Amino acid sequence: MTTRAVGWDATKPRTRTLAEPVRSRSEAARLAAAAEAACSNVLLASLSQELREEMLTHAQAIRLELGDVVEQQGGPKRVFFPLSGMLTGVRTRDDGSHYAYSHRGRESAVNAIGVARPEVSVGGGDLVVDVPGVAIVLDVPYYRALLERSTELLRAVLSHASHVINWRELSADCPGHHPVKSRTAYFLLLLRVHQSSDTLEVTHARIAEVLGVRRQSISEALGELKSRRVISLDRGRITILDRSALWQNACDCRRNADSARELQLAGRFEYTG
Ligand SMILES: [Zn+2]
Repeated sequence: MTTRAVGWDATKPRTRTLAEPVRSRSEAARLAAAAEAACSNVLLASLSQELREEMLTHAQAIRLELGDVVEQQGGPKRVFFPLSGMLTGVRTRDDGSHYAYSHRGRESAVNAIGVARPEVSVGGGDLVVDVPGVAIVLDVPYYRALLERSTELLRAVLSHASHVINWRELSADCPGHHPVKSRTAYFLLLLRVHQSSDTLEVTHARIAEVLGVRRQSISEALGELKSRRVISLDRGRITILDRSALWQNACDCRRNADSARELQLAGRFEYTG
């Protein structure tokens, strides 16, 4: 497992965490700035500045490097709030084959729902970085205690949960029923939603692992998209030439990519009451 602690400015890595007490006016200003920066995450942005600052005094910011495994299958869980980048949850079946069950970026969080149950402290699959970025991380005991006393956090997490349920239901049939070419196009759309460039750093082997299919099938699917001038291929890189055509070629799960993008643009969860 790889964890790289960083400061709140991702361009200036630091090793200290915000668990240290606030001692001065400059520290308080730094915490307030960090709480503002944390608004890149839609769930955190849905909270008050006061609650965000409290959470950040118990948080660590980590850099997400491409290919890092930030959580391992069956290992201890932490709660991740991506500020940028994308984390993919991948489970390994008994026969050794893989399948992805979640793709989360700054519109979402990882483990924020499951660990609310006291008996859930391990489980899930590997959590792998497919788009580099930065995430704020909380330990489960603190997060769970906060969830028990903060109605504000509970409401935001429930709103987030409803989106996750919608995403899961929409994609439930994807592994077994949607064609590999369409699933490949959908995964490329997801990568594009979580980074700012049309050039994606991803290998055929990684796509095969995420989709749980043979690498040869991915090469054929990408070759077909290339022949239609939807994408171009370079060593370890795929460039999207026609985003609209990529969307047309993707399976119905593309609505999840649309929904993630809409949430990112909205900036926060809307709830009533
Ligand atoms: Zn699908």
